[in-house]
Amino acid sequence: MNIKQIRNATISLNYAGTTFLIDPFLAEKGTYPPVQNTLNQDKRIPTVELPIAVEEIIQADAVIVTHLHPDHFDSVAKEVLPKHIKVFAQSEEDAEVIRREGFENVDALSATTHFQGICLYKTNGQHGTGKMKELMGAVSGVVFQHPDEKTLYVAGDTIWCEDVKNAIDTHQPNVIIVNGGAAQFLQGDPITMTKEDINRTYTESDDATVIVSHMEAVNHCLLTRKELRDFISEKDLSTSILVPDDGEMVSL
Ligand SMILES: [Zn+2]
Repeated sequence: MNIKQIRNATISLNYAGTTFLIDPFLAEKGTYPPVQNTLNQDKRIPTVELPIAVEEIIQADAVIVTHLHPDHFDSVAKEVLPKHIKVFAQSEEDAEVIRREGFENVDALSATTHFQGICLYKTNGQHGTGKMKELMGAVSGVVFQHPDEKTLYVAGDTIWCEDVKNAIDTHQPNVIIVNGGAAQFLQGDPITMTKEDINRTYTESDDATVIVSHMEAVNHCLLTRKELRDFISEKDLSTSILVPDDGEMVSL
């Protein structure tokens, strides 16, 4: 498989010959106001440019939208993606919202979905704790399986939690993509993975390669790549936990 980190949680994945675009957030740098009730109110989002042209990014066989927050499916993505492209959403409710944007080929992921010979298993997550988790709403991830490929688990916007442990125990992934950044509001706990959550994901797996996405593109993501890489190298895990730059491809 080839995993190309685009920006934020946007990933272009080539898996068993099929290209998936995950969580397209495609606006130019500074298009939207900062996420409110967070630090860094002087930073409009996205805080960085896309590393490659939008026309290239949207060359995909299917799009997966793990949830509908605007840093995962934004107005530019809604505008530039072809309306006939296959889109997978986490639920019928989300699928209906996406259909109302004009997309003609939207399905909700069921527990197991088959697409071009690939098994997709929907997983759950927790986008924060307590009241913040309720406010953030439902989120999902996806496990990819194919006889010619390693098993890949894309966790989506979740902290380390029982849902992530269950997905690892059930599917025994060889590769796990997590959303880092330790995104946080002024109140409450982080709503995406902290460095400790990322380390826990690795230690609870069977020596999976963990790839960290969702870094340094939205103002409320407080964990930097440098801080995370320093933490990983202190633990001597630099070959197990990878933190690709935007535009970088990982082949596994
Ligand atoms: Zn997010």
